[in-house]
Amino acid sequence: MSGVSRPAGGPDLAQVRRVVSEIPGPRSRELLARQRKLVPAGLGAVLPVFVEAAGGGVIVDADGNSFIDFGSGIAVTTVGNSAPAVAERAAAQLRRFTHTCFLVNPYESYLDVCEKLNELAPVPGEKRTILVNSGAEAVENAVKIARAATGRPGVVVFDHAFHGRTLLTMSLTAKNKPYKQGFGPFAPEVHRAPMAYPYRWPTGPVRCAEEAAHALADLLDRQVGAENVAAVLVEPIQGEGGFVVPAPGFLSSVAHICRARGILLIVDEIQAGIARTGRMFACEHEGIQPDLITTAKGLAGGLPLGAVTGRAELMDAVPAGGLGGTFSGNPVACEAALGVFEEIEAHGLLERARQIGDTMLEHLGGLADAYAAIGDVRGRGAMIAIELVEPTGDRVPAPGLAARVARRCHADGLLVLTAGSYGNVLRFLPPLSISDALLEEGLTILGEALAKELASAV
Ligand SMILES: *Cc1c(COP(=O)(O)O)cnc(C)c1O
Repeated sequence: MSGVSRPAGGPDLAQVRRVVSEIPGPRSRELLARQRKLVPAGLGAVLPVFVEAAGGGVIVDADGNSFIDFGSGIAVTTVGNSAPAVAERAAAQLRRFTHTCFLVNPYESYLDVCEKLNELAPVPGEKRTILVNSGAEAVENAVKIARAATGRPGVVVFDHAFHGRTLLTMSLTAKNKPYKQGFGPFAPEVHRAPMAYPYRWPTGPVRCAEEAAHALADLLDRQVGAENVAAVLVEPIQGEGGFVVPAPGFLSSVAHICRARGILLIVDEIQAGIARTGRMFACEHEGIQPDLITTAKGLAGGLPLGAVTGRAELMDAVPAGGLGGTFSGNPVACEAALGVFEEIEAHGLLERARQIGDTMLEHLGGLADAYAAIGDVRGRGAMIAIELVEPTGDRVPAPGLAARVARRCHADGLLVLTAGSYGNVLRFLPPLSISDALLEEGLTILGEALAKELASAV
Protein backbone atom coordinates (compact mmCIF):
# COMPACT_ATOMS: atom_id res chain seq x y z
CA MET A 1 0.00 0.00 0.00
CA SER A 2 1.26 3.46 -0.89
CA GLY A 3 -0.90 5.59 1.44
CA VAL A 4 1.74 8.27 2.17
CA SER A 5 -0.47 11.30 1.80
CA ARG A 6 -3.69 10.75 -0.04
CA PRO A 7 -5.78 13.65 -1.31
CA ALA A 8 -9.22 14.14 0.22
CA GLY A 9 -12.12 13.79 -2.21
CA GLY A 10 -15.60 15.24 -2.18
CA PRO A 11 -16.60 18.68 -3.44
CA ASP A 12 -13.41 20.33 -2.11
CA LEU A 13 -11.30 18.53 -4.69
CA ALA A 14 -9.93 20.96 -7.32
CA GLN A 15 -12.49 20.99 -10.14
CA VAL A 16 -10.08 20.89 -13.07
CA ARG A 17 -9.18 18.55 -15.90
CA ARG A 18 -5.49 17.73 -15.85
CA VAL A 19 -3.56 15.22 -17.94
CA VAL A 20 0.03 14.88 -16.73
CA SER A 21 0.98 11.41 -18.06
CA GLU A 22 0.05 9.02 -20.78
CA ILE A 23 -3.21 7.27 -19.92
CA PRO A 24 -2.87 5.01 -18.02
CA GLY A 25 0.22 6.53 -16.42
CA PRO A 26 3.25 4.67 -15.02
CA ARG A 27 1.86 4.20 -11.51
CA SER A 28 -1.49 2.90 -12.84
CA ARG A 29 0.32 0.55 -15.24
CA GLU A 30 2.31 -0.82 -12.33
CA LEU A 31 -0.89 -1.41 -10.38
CA LEU A 32 -2.55 -2.93 -13.43
CA ALA A 33 0.29 -5.44 -13.70
CA ARG A 34 -0.34 -6.29 -10.04
CA GLN A 35 -4.08 -6.60 -10.74
CA ARG A 36 -3.42 -9.13 -13.51
CA LYS A 37 -1.68 -11.42 -11.02
CA LEU A 38 -4.28 -11.02 -8.30
CA VAL A 39 -7.75 -10.86 -9.83
CA PRO A 40 -9.40 -12.88 -12.61
CA ALA A 41 -9.29 -11.74 -16.22
CA GLY A 42 -13.09 -11.85 -16.28
CA LEU A 43 -13.15 -8.46 -14.57
CA GLY A 44 -12.75 -5.90 -17.33
CA ALA A 45 -11.81 -2.23 -16.85
CA VAL A 46 -13.21 0.64 -18.89
CA LEU A 47 -10.37 3.02 -18.02
CA PRO A 48 -7.66 1.28 -15.96
CA VAL A 49 -6.41 4.26 -13.99
CA PHE A 50 -6.28 3.68 -10.23
CA VAL A 51 -8.27 6.23 -8.29
CA GLU A 52 -6.93 8.24 -5.37
CA ALA A 53 -9.77 10.71 -4.89
CA ALA A 54 -13.00 11.82 -6.52
CA GLY A 55 -15.63 14.48 -5.97
CA GLY A 56 -17.73 17.14 -7.66
CA GLY A 57 -17.20 16.35 -11.33
CA VAL A 58 -13.68 14.87 -11.30
CA ILE A 59 -11.73 11.69 -10.59
CA VAL A 60 -8.03 11.95 -9.67
CA ASP A 61 -5.72 9.00 -10.38
CA ALA A 62 -2.50 7.67 -8.89
CA ASP A 63 -0.39 9.56 -11.44
CA GLY A 64 -2.04 12.89 -10.65
CA ASN A 65 -4.32 12.98 -13.69
CA SER A 66 -7.72 14.57 -13.08
CA PHE A 67 -10.54 13.27 -15.30
CA ILE A 68 -13.89 14.90 -15.97
CA ASP A 69 -16.39 12.30 -14.81
CA PHE A 70 -19.14 11.42 -17.30
CA GLY A 71 -19.70 8.01 -15.72
CA SER A 72 -20.51 8.41 -12.00
CA GLY A 73 -19.26 4.85 -11.44
CA ILE A 74 -22.11 3.72 -13.73
CA ALA A 75 -24.86 6.02 -12.46
CA VAL A 76 -24.00 5.50 -8.79
CA THR A 77 -22.44 8.72 -7.48
CA THR A 78 -25.36 10.79 -8.74
CA VAL A 79 -25.06 13.26 -5.83
CA GLY A 80 -21.26 13.34 -6.26
CA ASN A 81 -18.48 11.24 -4.80
CA SER A 82 -18.12 11.62 -1.03
CA ALA A 83 -20.95 14.15 -1.01
CA PRO A 84 -20.92 15.86 2.40
CA ALA A 85 -24.23 14.54 3.78
CA VAL A 86 -23.37 11.01 2.61
CA ALA A 87 -19.83 11.05 3.99
CA GLU A 88 -20.78 12.61 7.32
CA ARG A 89 -23.74 10.35 8.00
CA ALA A 90 -21.81 7.21 7.00
CA ALA A 91 -18.77 8.20 9.09
CA ALA A 92 -20.92 8.89 12.15
CA GLN A 93 -22.67 5.53 11.74
CA LEU A 94 -19.32 3.73 11.44
CA ARG A 95 -18.49 4.99 14.92
CA ARG A 96 -21.86 3.91 16.39
CA PHE A 97 -22.13 0.34 15.06
CA THR A 98 -21.30 -1.33 11.75
CA HIS A 99 -23.72 -4.25 11.69
CA THR A 100 -26.32 -6.13 13.66
CA CYS A 101 -28.18 -7.91 10.82
CA PHE A 102 -31.62 -6.34 10.47
CA LEU A 103 -33.14 -9.83 10.90
CA VAL A 104 -31.49 -10.12 14.32
CA ASN A 105 -31.73 -6.58 15.72
CA PRO A 106 -33.43 -3.88 13.67
CA TYR A 107 -32.36 -0.20 13.64
CA GLU A 108 -34.26 2.96 12.80
CA SER A 109 -32.23 4.19 9.78
CA TYR A 110 -33.48 1.16 7.79
CA LEU A 111 -37.04 2.32 8.48
CA ASP A 112 -36.15 5.90 7.51
CA VAL A 113 -34.90 4.76 4.08
CA CYS A 114 -38.03 2.64 3.56
CA GLU A 115 -40.27 5.51 4.63
CA LYS A 116 -38.58 7.79 2.13
CA LEU A 117 -38.88 5.29 -0.74
CA ASN A 118 -42.52 4.51 0.15
CA GLU A 119 -43.29 8.21 0.13
CA LEU A 120 -41.54 8.91 -3.18
CA ALA A 121 -42.19 5.82 -5.32
CA PRO A 122 -45.05 6.20 -7.84
CA VAL A 123 -46.62 2.92 -6.70
CA PRO A 124 -50.34 3.19 -5.90
CA GLY A 125 -51.81 2.74 -2.41
CA GLU A 126 -50.09 1.57 0.73
CA LYS A 127 -46.45 0.56 0.18
CA ARG A 128 -43.66 -1.48 1.70
CA THR A 129 -39.91 -1.53 0.99
CA ILE A 130 -37.25 -4.19 1.51
CA LEU A 131 -33.54 -3.29 1.42
CA VAL A 132 -30.90 -5.53 -0.17
CA ASN A 133 -27.23 -5.32 -1.22
CA SER A 134 -27.26 -4.79 -4.96
CA GLY A 135 -29.30 -4.23 -8.08
CA ALA A 136 -29.32 -7.90 -9.03
CA GLU A 137 -30.52 -8.82 -5.55
CA ALA A 138 -33.32 -6.26 -5.82
CA VAL A 139 -34.48 -7.78 -9.12
CA GLU A 140 -34.23 -11.32 -7.70
CA ASN A 141 -36.40 -10.29 -4.76
CA ALA A 142 -38.94 -8.47 -6.92
CA VAL A 143 -39.39 -11.66 -8.96
CA LYS A 144 -39.67 -13.80 -5.81
CA ILE A 145 -42.32 -11.46 -4.41
CA ALA A 146 -44.24 -11.34 -7.70
CA ARG A 147 -44.28 -15.13 -7.93
CA ALA A 148 -45.35 -15.55 -4.31
CA ALA A 149 -48.09 -12.93 -4.67
CA THR A 150 -49.53 -14.29 -7.95
CA GLY A 151 -48.76 -17.99 -7.69
CA ARG A 152 -47.54 -17.81 -11.30
CA PRO A 153 -44.03 -18.69 -12.52
CA GLY A 154 -43.41 -16.69 -15.72
CA VAL A 155 -41.48 -13.45 -16.13
CA VAL A 156 -41.55 -11.42 -19.34
CA VAL A 157 -38.62 -9.17 -20.17
CA PHE A 158 -37.56 -7.21 -23.23
CA ASP A 159 -34.93 -7.23 -25.91
CA HIS A 160 -31.84 -5.12 -24.98
CA ALA A 161 -32.65 -5.51 -21.26
CA PHE A 162 -30.01 -5.68 -18.54
CA HIS A 163 -31.04 -6.82 -15.08
CA GLY A 164 -27.84 -8.18 -13.49
CA ARG A 165 -25.26 -10.95 -13.38
CA THR A 166 -26.69 -13.55 -10.97
CA LEU A 167 -28.22 -16.68 -12.49
CA LEU A 168 -31.80 -15.37 -12.61
CA THR A 169 -30.93 -11.78 -13.53
CA MET A 170 -28.44 -12.94 -16.18
CA SER A 171 -31.26 -15.06 -17.61
CA LEU A 172 -33.44 -11.93 -17.66
CA THR A 173 -30.68 -9.99 -19.46
CA ALA A 174 -30.82 -9.97 -23.26
CA LYS A 175 -27.23 -9.72 -24.47
CA ASN A 176 -25.22 -12.93 -24.77
CA LYS A 177 -21.62 -11.70 -24.83
CA PRO A 178 -20.17 -10.92 -22.36
CA TYR A 179 -22.98 -11.45 -19.85
CA LYS A 180 -24.22 -14.98 -20.59
CA GLN A 181 -21.76 -16.81 -22.85
CA GLY A 182 -20.68 -20.04 -21.19
CA PHE A 183 -22.77 -19.50 -18.05
CA GLY A 184 -25.86 -21.58 -18.89
CA PRO A 185 -28.11 -23.40 -18.36
CA PHE A 186 -30.25 -20.39 -17.59
CA ALA A 187 -33.20 -19.96 -15.25
CA PRO A 188 -36.47 -21.16 -16.79
CA GLU A 189 -39.79 -19.33 -17.28
CA VAL A 190 -38.18 -16.23 -18.78
CA HIS A 191 -39.85 -14.93 -21.96
CA ARG A 192 -38.67 -12.05 -24.13
CA ALA A 193 -40.69 -9.45 -26.02
CA PRO A 194 -39.39 -6.82 -28.45
CA MET A 195 -38.56 -3.41 -26.95
CA ALA A 196 -40.15 -0.29 -28.44
CA TYR A 197 -36.76 1.04 -29.61
CA PRO A 198 -37.73 3.92 -31.89
CA TYR A 199 -34.42 4.27 -33.73
CA ARG A 200 -34.28 0.57 -34.68
CA TRP A 201 -37.97 -0.33 -34.99
CA PRO A 202 -38.38 -2.10 -38.37
CA THR A 203 -41.32 0.03 -39.58
CA GLY A 204 -39.92 3.29 -38.16
CA PRO A 205 -40.55 5.27 -34.99
CA VAL A 206 -44.15 6.37 -35.63
CA ARG A 207 -45.85 2.99 -35.16
CA CYS A 208 -43.20 1.67 -32.77
CA ALA A 209 -45.13 1.96 -29.48
CA GLU A 210 -48.30 0.46 -30.92
CA GLU A 211 -46.62 -2.45 -32.71
CA ALA A 212 -44.38 -3.29 -29.74
CA ALA A 213 -47.40 -3.28 -27.41
CA HIS A 214 -49.19 -5.60 -29.83
CA ALA A 215 -46.20 -7.95 -29.86
CA LEU A 216 -46.20 -8.06 -26.04
CA ALA A 217 -49.92 -8.84 -25.87
CA ASP A 218 -49.47 -11.55 -28.49
CA LEU A 219 -46.57 -13.12 -26.56
CA LEU A 220 -48.65 -13.11 -23.36
CA ASP A 221 -51.92 -14.35 -24.81
CA ARG A 222 -50.81 -16.76 -27.50
CA GLN A 223 -47.34 -18.08 -26.63
CA VAL A 224 -47.02 -18.08 -22.83
CA GLY A 225 -50.57 -17.72 -21.55
CA ALA A 226 -51.20 -14.70 -19.34
CA GLU A 227 -52.32 -16.95 -16.47
CA ASN A 228 -48.76 -18.33 -16.33
CA VAL A 229 -47.08 -14.93 -16.03
CA ALA A 230 -46.28 -13.36 -12.66
CA ALA A 231 -44.75 -10.15 -13.94
CA VAL A 232 -43.53 -8.05 -16.82
CA LEU A 233 -40.17 -6.48 -15.95
CA VAL A 234 -39.01 -3.36 -17.79
CA GLU A 235 -36.41 -0.62 -17.50
CA PRO A 236 -38.03 2.83 -17.92
CA ILE A 237 -34.92 3.81 -19.91
CA GLN A 238 -32.71 0.87 -20.81
CA GLY A 239 -29.24 1.26 -19.30
CA GLU A 240 -26.65 -1.21 -20.56
CA GLY A 241 -28.86 -1.72 -23.63
CA GLY A 242 -27.88 1.77 -24.80
CA PHE A 243 -30.13 4.32 -23.07
CA VAL A 244 -33.08 3.25 -25.17
CA VAL A 245 -36.01 5.50 -24.28
CA PRO A 246 -39.13 3.46 -25.05
CA ALA A 247 -41.35 5.09 -27.69
CA PRO A 248 -43.81 7.52 -26.02
CA GLY A 249 -46.92 5.69 -24.82
CA PHE A 250 -45.28 2.25 -24.82
CA LEU A 251 -44.82 2.02 -21.06
CA SER A 252 -48.41 3.05 -20.39
CA SER A 253 -49.57 0.41 -22.89
CA VAL A 254 -47.45 -2.17 -21.05
CA ALA A 255 -49.05 -1.10 -17.75
CA HIS A 256 -52.51 -1.41 -19.29
CA ILE A 257 -51.78 -4.82 -20.84
CA CYS A 258 -50.52 -6.10 -17.48
CA ARG A 259 -53.45 -4.75 -15.47
CA ALA A 260 -56.00 -6.28 -17.86
CA ARG A 261 -54.43 -9.72 -17.31
CA GLY A 262 -53.63 -9.68 -13.59
CA ILE A 263 -49.92 -9.56 -14.38
CA LEU A 264 -47.70 -7.43 -12.14
CA LEU A 265 -45.58 -4.65 -13.60
CA ILE A 266 -42.06 -4.39 -12.18
CA VAL A 267 -40.13 -1.30 -13.24
CA ASP A 268 -36.35 -1.65 -12.90
CA GLU A 269 -35.19 1.86 -11.91
CA ILE A 270 -31.74 0.67 -10.86
CA GLN A 271 -29.89 2.81 -13.42
CA ALA A 272 -32.45 5.51 -14.30
CA GLY A 273 -33.93 6.10 -10.85
CA ILE A 274 -33.01 8.34 -7.88
CA ALA A 275 -32.95 11.77 -9.54
CA ARG A 276 -30.82 10.75 -12.51
CA THR A 277 -33.36 11.73 -15.21
CA GLY A 278 -34.73 14.87 -13.52
CA ARG A 279 -37.48 12.99 -11.69
CA MET A 280 -36.93 10.81 -8.66
CA PHE A 281 -38.07 7.82 -10.76
CA ALA A 282 -37.75 7.72 -14.54
CA CYS A 283 -41.15 6.06 -15.00
CA GLU A 284 -42.77 9.26 -13.68
CA HIS A 285 -42.00 10.83 -17.07
CA GLU A 286 -44.52 8.41 -18.59
CA GLY A 287 -47.02 8.75 -15.74
CA ILE A 288 -47.20 5.03 -15.02
CA GLN A 289 -47.80 3.39 -11.65
CA PRO A 290 -45.93 0.08 -11.36
CA ASP A 291 -46.75 -2.60 -8.79
CA LEU A 292 -43.10 -3.01 -7.81
CA ILE A 293 -40.02 -0.82 -8.34
CA THR A 294 -36.38 -1.84 -7.96
CA THR A 295 -33.66 0.69 -7.11
CA ALA A 296 -29.94 0.41 -6.32
CA LYS A 297 -27.07 2.22 -8.08
CA GLY A 298 -27.69 5.87 -7.10
CA LEU A 299 -29.55 5.02 -3.90
CA ALA A 300 -26.72 5.24 -1.37
CA GLY A 301 -24.08 7.41 -3.06
CA GLY A 302 -21.72 4.50 -3.69
CA LEU A 303 -22.37 2.30 -0.69
CA PRO A 304 -23.97 -1.01 -1.64
CA LEU A 305 -27.71 -0.77 -1.20
CA GLY A 306 -30.68 -1.90 -3.28
CA ALA A 307 -34.40 -1.86 -2.65
CA VAL A 308 -37.73 -3.24 -3.76
CA THR A 309 -40.66 -0.93 -3.15
CA GLY A 310 -44.15 -2.23 -3.88
CA ARG A 311 -47.83 -2.42 -3.09
CA ALA A 312 -48.26 -3.56 0.52
CA GLU A 313 -50.50 -6.55 -0.27
CA LEU A 314 -47.92 -7.93 -2.71
CA MET A 315 -44.91 -7.28 -0.50
CA ASP A 316 -46.69 -8.90 2.46
CA ALA A 317 -47.57 -12.03 0.45
CA VAL A 318 -44.23 -13.62 1.40
CA PRO A 319 -44.38 -15.24 4.87
CA ALA A 320 -41.91 -14.22 7.62
CA GLY A 321 -38.44 -15.64 6.95
CA GLY A 322 -38.97 -15.75 3.17
CA LEU A 323 -37.01 -12.56 2.49
CA GLY A 324 -33.82 -11.02 3.86
CA GLY A 325 -30.06 -11.46 3.94
CA THR A 326 -27.14 -11.15 6.32
CA PHE A 327 -25.83 -7.77 5.14
CA SER A 328 -29.08 -6.47 3.61
CA GLY A 329 -29.83 -2.88 4.53
CA ASN A 330 -26.47 -2.40 6.25
CA PRO A 331 -26.69 0.56 8.67
CA VAL A 332 -23.78 2.48 7.10
CA ALA A 333 -25.41 2.13 3.67
CA CYS A 334 -28.77 3.23 5.13
CA GLU A 335 -27.22 6.40 6.57
CA ALA A 336 -25.55 7.04 3.21
CA ALA A 337 -28.94 6.72 1.47
CA LEU A 338 -30.47 9.23 3.88
CA GLY A 339 -27.56 11.52 2.98
CA VAL A 340 -28.38 11.05 -0.72
CA PHE A 341 -32.00 12.17 -0.18
CA GLU A 342 -30.75 15.19 1.81
CA GLU A 343 -28.31 16.17 -0.95
CA ILE A 344 -31.04 15.90 -3.61
CA GLU A 345 -33.36 18.16 -1.61
CA ALA A 346 -30.75 20.64 -0.36
CA HIS A 347 -29.22 21.25 -3.78
CA GLY A 348 -32.30 21.03 -6.01
CA LEU A 349 -30.75 18.10 -7.87
CA LEU A 350 -33.89 17.14 -9.81
CA GLU A 351 -33.78 20.54 -11.47
CA ARG A 352 -30.00 20.22 -11.88
CA ALA A 353 -30.43 16.91 -13.72
CA ARG A 354 -32.86 18.58 -16.13
CA GLN A 355 -30.41 21.46 -16.76
CA ILE A 356 -27.58 19.02 -17.42
CA GLY A 357 -29.85 17.17 -19.85
CA ASP A 358 -30.71 20.39 -21.70
CA THR A 359 -27.03 21.32 -22.02
CA MET A 360 -26.05 17.86 -23.23
CA LEU A 361 -28.94 17.53 -25.69
CA GLU A 362 -28.26 20.94 -27.20
CA HIS A 363 -24.55 20.29 -27.59
CA LEU A 364 -24.96 16.73 -28.88
CA GLY A 365 -27.77 17.78 -31.22
CA GLY A 366 -25.30 20.20 -32.81
CA LEU A 367 -22.76 17.39 -33.22
CA ALA A 368 -25.44 15.13 -34.73
CA ASP A 369 -26.22 17.81 -37.33
CA ALA A 370 -22.53 17.97 -38.20
CA TYR A 371 -21.76 14.23 -38.28
CA ALA A 372 -23.79 11.52 -40.02
CA ALA A 373 -21.99 9.03 -37.76
CA ILE A 374 -24.26 10.12 -34.89
CA GLY A 375 -27.41 8.22 -35.76
CA ASP A 376 -29.39 9.07 -32.65
CA VAL A 377 -29.19 11.33 -29.59
CA ARG A 378 -31.45 10.26 -26.73
CA GLY A 379 -32.04 10.08 -23.01
CA ARG A 380 -33.40 12.19 -20.20
CA GLY A 381 -31.75 14.49 -17.69
CA ALA A 382 -28.22 13.41 -16.79
CA MET A 383 -28.67 10.12 -18.68
CA ILE A 384 -27.92 10.88 -22.32
CA ALA A 385 -26.34 8.83 -25.10
CA ILE A 386 -25.36 9.00 -28.74
CA GLU A 387 -25.65 5.98 -31.01
CA LEU A 388 -22.85 5.77 -33.57
CA VAL A 389 -23.43 4.27 -37.01
CA GLU A 390 -21.66 3.90 -40.32
CA PRO A 391 -22.21 7.12 -42.26
CA THR A 392 -24.01 5.20 -45.04
CA GLY A 393 -27.47 6.13 -43.76
CA ASP A 394 -28.77 2.61 -43.05
CA ARG A 395 -28.13 2.53 -39.30
CA VAL A 396 -25.31 -0.03 -39.42
CA PRO A 397 -23.81 0.01 -35.90
CA ALA A 398 -20.26 1.38 -35.56
CA PRO A 399 -18.88 -0.21 -32.35
CA GLY A 400 -15.25 0.30 -33.43
CA LEU A 401 -15.82 4.03 -33.79
CA ALA A 402 -17.47 4.17 -30.34
CA ALA A 403 -14.49 2.39 -28.78
CA ARG A 404 -11.96 4.66 -30.54
CA VAL A 405 -13.79 7.87 -29.59
CA ALA A 406 -14.03 6.66 -25.98
CA ARG A 407 -10.29 5.93 -25.95
CA ARG A 408 -9.49 9.40 -27.32
CA CYS A 409 -11.71 10.98 -24.64
CA HIS A 410 -9.93 8.98 -21.95
CA ALA A 411 -6.52 10.09 -23.25
CA ASP A 412 -7.74 13.70 -23.12
CA GLY A 413 -9.00 13.44 -19.53
CA LEU A 414 -12.70 12.71 -20.06
CA LEU A 415 -14.20 9.52 -18.67
CA VAL A 416 -17.02 8.25 -20.92
CA LEU A 417 -18.64 4.81 -21.01
CA THR A 418 -19.88 2.73 -23.91
CA ALA A 419 -23.10 0.70 -23.97
CA GLY A 420 -25.63 -0.87 -26.30
CA SER A 421 -26.51 -4.29 -27.65
CA TYR A 422 -24.18 -3.54 -30.57
CA GLY A 423 -21.52 -1.78 -28.46
CA ASN A 424 -21.96 1.37 -30.54
CA VAL A 425 -23.42 3.74 -27.94
CA LEU A 426 -21.49 6.35 -25.96
CA ARG A 427 -23.36 7.12 -22.75
CA PHE A 428 -22.98 10.12 -20.50
CA LEU A 429 -23.86 9.94 -16.81
CA PRO A 430 -22.21 12.92 -15.11
CA PRO A 431 -22.67 13.37 -11.38
CA LEU A 432 -25.26 16.07 -10.67
CA SER A 433 -22.52 17.85 -8.69
CA ILE A 434 -20.55 18.61 -11.88
CA SER A 435 -20.04 22.31 -12.68
CA ASP A 436 -21.32 23.85 -15.92
CA ALA A 437 -17.72 24.65 -16.82
CA LEU A 438 -16.61 21.01 -16.57
CA LEU A 439 -19.75 19.75 -18.29
CA GLU A 440 -19.15 22.02 -21.26
CA GLU A 441 -15.42 21.25 -21.33
CA GLY A 442 -16.27 17.55 -21.39
CA LEU A 443 -18.71 17.99 -24.27
CA THR A 444 -16.09 19.99 -26.19
CA ILE A 445 -13.52 17.20 -25.69
CA LEU A 446 -16.06 14.68 -26.93
CA GLY A 447 -16.73 16.78 -30.05
CA GLU A 448 -13.00 17.06 -30.75
CA ALA A 449 -12.48 13.33 -30.25
CA LEU A 450 -15.27 12.58 -32.73
CA ALA A 451 -13.92 15.08 -35.24
CA LYS A 452 -10.37 13.67 -35.03
CA GLU A 453 -11.56 10.09 -35.24
CA LEU A 454 -13.79 10.70 -38.23
CA ALA A 455 -11.07 12.70 -40.00
CA SER A 456 -8.50 9.96 -39.45
CA ALA A 457 -10.94 7.30 -40.71
CA VAL A 458 -11.19 8.91 -44.16
C1 LIG B 1 -26.73 -2.27 -12.97
C2 LIG B 1 -28.12 -2.75 -13.17
C3 LIG B 1 -28.60 -3.89 -12.54
C4 LIG B 1 -27.71 -4.75 -11.67
O1 LIG B 1 -27.25 -4.05 -10.56
P1 LIG B 1 -25.97 -4.63 -9.74
O2 LIG B 1 -25.90 -3.75 -8.54
O3 LIG B 1 -24.80 -4.51 -10.64
O4 LIG B 1 -26.30 -6.03 -9.40
C5 LIG B 1 -29.92 -4.25 -12.73
N1 LIG B 1 -30.72 -3.51 -13.52
C6 LIG B 1 -30.30 -2.40 -14.14
C7 LIG B 1 -31.25 -1.62 -14.99
C8 LIG B 1 -28.97 -2.00 -14.02
O5 LIG B 1 -28.54 -0.91 -14.67
